[in-house]
Amino acid sequence: MNLSCLHTHTTFCDGEDDVETFCRAAKEKNLHSLGFSAHAPITKKTGFVTGWHLGDDRLEEYLDAIRSAKKRWKGRLNIYAGLEADFIDGLTGPADREYREMGLDYLIGSVHYLVPPKGKPFTVDGPPEEFARGVGESYGGDGEAAMGAYWDTLEKMIAAGGFDILGHADLIRKNNGDDQWFDIESKNYLERLSRIALLIGLQQHIVTEVNTGGLNRGKIKDTYPSPAFLKLLAQGAQGTSVQGALAPVIITADAHRAKDLNGHYTLAKETLRRAGFKETLLFEGRENGRPRWTPRPL
Ligand SMILES: [Zn+2]
Ligand SMILES: [Zn+2]
Repeated sequence: MNLSCLHTHTTFCDGEDDVETFCRAAKEKNLHSLGFSAHAPITKKTGFVTGWHLGDDRLEEYLDAIRSAKKRWKGRLNIYAGLEADFIDGLTGPADREYREMGLDYLIGSVHYLVPPKGKPFTVDGPPEEFARGVGESYGGDGEAAMGAYWDTLEKMIAAGGFDILGHADLIRKNNGDDQWFDIESKNYLERLSRIALLIGLQQHIVTEVNTGGLNRGKIKDTYPSPAFLKLLAQGAQGTSVQGALAPVIITADAHRAKDLNGHYTLAKETLRRAGFKETLLFEGRENGRPRWTPRPL
């Protein structure tokens, strides 16, 4: 039995395949479970109109499609309903009450947007020219400042809570190429990572995903978070059981195509082992309002 994927985007948002195609692929790949995590609707709350979020008026349809897949695949594949909720500073975040009322199995919390004091909010993982425009307009072209703003935003999301899985924790690396905007070996950068690792350790219920989406789409050469980040997390996780783990992790593919489910998982496992992790987690559904995780040796 293989691992699972809880980070999956279908045609309901910006994925290329539909729910059933993902279910079939998960079964073929012998996955333990499959969770759907459409980009949660944001337009009503923020006024942002994008091509990659689930429309506000399609939430019920999305949840229905997963409910009916659960029925169809009962006894053959564990299927879960989730969302990837954006934290957009001052506008919306996974701690918003409405998410508690949707009956979701789990919620991924992700930072894609920076909301600068001046200039328009922009995404850190969009096309390089968009990112460059955002950094130019809002941070005077200072990549270090944008990087700092990203970590500030992530810290705010972690402090606000409300989510089960921390999505692609260092997504800010996506447009950084070979340190084009900031130096990931600088003291400042490593200090930010340490602070985040500490914060994650303090919020014991947060599971950090090791996301192979950048690899699956050929955008970066390793996982989110980076091996260096995972080493810092592992230092907190060593010698503890799952329930007591300071920094538990799961592997996800951030799959936008069914064929990418479990893509680059071998590399992710190897990265985790090298970082010092002994186990990853499998999701077993929600009980009394809390996610239930079981350990899986790496
Ligand atoms: Zn994301
Ligand atoms: Zn995603």
